[in-house]
Amino acid sequence: MSKVLYEQDVNTEVLREKRIAIIGYGSQGHAHAQNLRESRFDVIVGLRPGKSQVKAEEDGFTVLSVADAVKQAEVVMILLPDEMQTTVYTESIEPNLQPGNAIAFAHGFNIHFSQIVPPSNVDVFLVAPKGPGHLVRRTYEEGAGVPALYGIYQDVSGKAKEIALAYAQGIGAARAGILETSFQEETETDLFGEQAVLCGGVTSLIKAGFETLTEAGYQPEVAYFECLHEMKLIVDLLYEGGLENMRYSISDTAQWGDFVSGPRVVNEETKARMKEILQDVQTGAFAKGWILENQANRPQFNAINAKENQHPIEQVGKELRALMPFVSEPLQKKQNKQK
Ligand code: NAD
Ligand code: MG
Ligand code: MG
Ligand code: MG
Ligand code: MG
Ligand code: MG
Repeated sequence: MSKVLYEQDVNTEVLREKRIAIIGYGSQGHAHAQNLRESRFDVIVGLRPGKSQVKAEEDGFTVLSVADAVKQAEVVMILLPDEMQTTVYTESIEPNLQPGNAIAFAHGFNIHFSQIVPPSNVDVFLVAPKGPGHLVRRTYEEGAGVPALYGIYQDVSGKAKEIALAYAQGIGAARAGILETSFQEETETDLFGEQAVLCGGVTSLIKAGFETLTEAGYQPEVAYFECLHEMKLIVDLLYEGGLENMRYSISDTAQWGDFVSGPRVVNEETKARMKEILQDVQTGAFAKGWILENQANRPQFNAINAKENQHPIEQVGKELRALMPFVSEPLQKKQNKQK
């Protein structure tokens, strides 16, 4: 088994003497910046003027332009949207890097697919939390953390690994476990996971179930509870104790149905499709399509997004969640903060 590292395995000294610039203050950026600050590291934020900048200032950070933040820091964590990173990197980051600085990423996409080619005199590392940014923050506040992968692409200082581990500790990941990876492995597994299982797989499964029930004449409200709402309750059991723990909690009838019907839904053909998806990720075909889609100003992304938001499950979901305010509490809190 790979060695998972925890707080006692990490020496944070090497990062204490450096200033960290967090570039971007979105889902990951706000979490990294706040967690690192509370872990007593020296953090500044680099942004363009706008909503994020106001929010970072309200949260008490020194906010500079991206170029100035890079000039003033030794470690530069790039937490911009993946599709914006190349432009901002070329214009404002690379020209302001000093030899011996480190640049860092939370996802390997731009390095692995050669959209960013860093100079040979800086460290390049990855600290990729395996969870959404808002949970990186929330779990840290609760005294826990989200596990993370770390990887080294370029080690000029001879200390890139120590710096990466200290960084992972600073955002709280060492409380949950940090595991070594490469940019290639992180990029390919992350893209595959979100497409086939976590995001694409789950949303398609939920929609297909909801449509099957409503097309058969069952009430949309019932179909919503069955296929979407209850997903979270089941996933919590999986998260806490794996498949066995989930199956322990459900009825034996449900468990028998799981055994006989699950493999009819996700079968050899589904797995063959998953292998194609993985291949598209590995060959760069997916990356190329996404890069071109952005260069074309996202015609397909926007069209599909608008259509998805109109799906009947979204309509009934809105109505039902309004009647269960406790369900949307984390969302409300987030929206209030954003205001
Ligand atoms: P995001 O869209 O939530 O936030 C991006 C931030 O960048 C915002 O603050 C925005 O204002 C700022 N920004 C955008 N364009 C800019 C520009 N031109 N100049 C300056 N600032 C600009 O992004 P995110 O989801 O946090 O993703 C950041 C990185 O983290 C990505 O590499 C992503 O793959 C990775 N990641 C994200 C998650 C997640 O939970 N969302 C999980 C793991 C890894
Ligand atoms: Mg997003
Ligand atoms: Mg991921
Ligand atoms: Mg991802
Ligand atoms: Mg049982
Ligand atoms: Mg049931």
